[in-house]
Amino acid sequence: MPADTVLIVEDNERSMKLFRDVLEVRGYRTLEATTGERAVELATRHLPDVVLMDVQLPDVDGVEALRRIRTDARTAFTPVVAVTAQAMDGDRERFLCAGFDAYLPKPVDVSELLGVLAAYCRGDVAGGAREPAEN
Ligand code: MN
Repeated sequence: MPADTVLIVEDNERSMKLFRDVLEVRGYRTLEATTGERAVELATRHLPDVVLMDVQLPDVDGVEALRRIRTDARTAFTPVVAVTAQAMDGDRERFLCAGFDAYLPKPVDVSELLGVLAAYCRGDVAGGAREPAEN
C-alpha cells in the first residue's frame, strides 16, 4: 500500500522544513505548496490524504483555498487542517466553522500534529506502534 500523502501548504521556509522533516521521518509522502493557488492545484491533481493548510499565505489565504478545495468534487471531502499563529479566543471555532476539519495553533506541537494527521490517514505507515525487533 502506498504511503499516506500529506499536502503541506506553508509559505514560511523554516516551518515548511520542520513539517517536511517531521512527516518524512514518520513515513509520510509529502507534497508542498507555498501559495493558496498552488495548494488548490496540487490538491485536485494529486488527491492527498490530508492537507495541512497555513492560513496566512501570500496570495489567496487558507480559508479561500479551502473553499476552492471544497467546491471541487474530487476534494470536497479531503481532510484539511488549519495551521495558524492566530491563537486568539474563538479562533478554533471560527476555523472549524469555515469548514476546516481541525485546527493547530503555531508554534505547532509535533506530537499533536502527528496525532491529528494519524486520525485522517490509514495509519499503515505513520503513527502505528511498531513490533519490537526480536533478538
Ligand atoms: Mn504563512
